[in-house]
Amino acid sequence: MNIKRFKKAVKKIILKCVRIFPLLMLRRIAGQPLVIVNYHSIEAWDPDSRIRKNTYRSEKLFIEDLKFFKNSFNVIGMAEFLYFHRMNNALPKNTLLITIDDGLKVVYDRMYPLLKKEGLTAAVFINPAFIDNKDLHYIRKRNIILDYLDKNLIDFNSDVLDIISDFGLNRFESYQSIQNINYNKRELLNHLANAWQIDYVAYLNKQSPYLSSDEIMEMIQSGFTFGAHSMDHAPFNQITDKEQIRQIRESMKQVVENWHLDYRIFAFPSNDKNIRLSVMEKGVEFYEASFGVQGLRLDQAPNHFHRVEIESSSAIASTAIKYEYCKLIMYKLLAKLTLTRK
Ligand SMILES: [Zn+2]
Repeated sequence: MNIKRFKKAVKKIILKCVRIFPLLMLRRIAGQPLVIVNYHSIEAWDPDSRIRKNTYRSEKLFIEDLKFFKNSFNVIGMAEFLYFHRMNNALPKNTLLITIDDGLKVVYDRMYPLLKKEGLTAAVFINPAFIDNKDLHYIRKRNIILDYLDKNLIDFNSDVLDIISDFGLNRFESYQSIQNINYNKRELLNHLANAWQIDYVAYLNKQSPYLSSDEIMEMIQSGFTFGAHSMDHAPFNQITDKEQIRQIRESMKQVVENWHLDYRIFAFPSNDKNIRLSVMEKGVEFYEASFGVQGLRLDQAPNHFHRVEIESSSAIASTAIKYEYCKLIMYKLLAKLTLTRK
């Protein structure tokens, strides 16, 4: 069994155990006033067959989550959160904030109506490069090609193999080479699409996986808040510190200017754990609050807040949050509550 699967199995056992503890007891011991939960999508929605396999909430479970939050927490919006943050005031007890990453169309089609019905709002973090379905994330492009290959709709001819070797990848293990195309070699995905006559633009027009500017505007008018999530959801561990800072600066600028926002919030794409302190100290010049995904931990970086990836286990929200309270108690006991950065 590899480490990832072992960790997953251990987490499953712990999730089963934590269910028996009363929420209020764990919350009292954890002593944590702020819970921020993060979502991405809804089960079975995604047009990408590989991404669709990720664990997301069904609409029914999403509604149950929202009802649980309303019953057990003081749910606030980002505007209210920023008010407390700016004033440097302590948040009310048991505060919970909802965020959604990636700016997918499902946010407008499914999540927004459900949130509205419950009288709630969320902060949505978007990638300007994809809004209005202008472009497609490189992993989605890669998945389209892999799907074509899996269905035997295309095959490796010598032209394609030459393109693969031109990019320094192994032409003899061509399928694996495509699986391994990373962010820095993403241009290869456009060359391959040309060679195979795969039309990403037609896909974008047909599937429209991302939010449009009009949908964003309508949500803003309904009290939703928007922030940047880097320009094109680059995996920050694959780009230089300088490029990370450029992505923060440029995406923040575009989101604030395009929608005339009087606040600046940023969520780091993917896992923020290994982002350097120097990047975050520079980043804070461009945003007033940033968000990561290390559960309920605090952070050494200025104005950086962590969120619970509430969809990642299929556990119901109360169990997932109890689990996070337990982890927080453990971090406190180990004197590791605050995440330190290199
Ligand atoms: Zn993301």
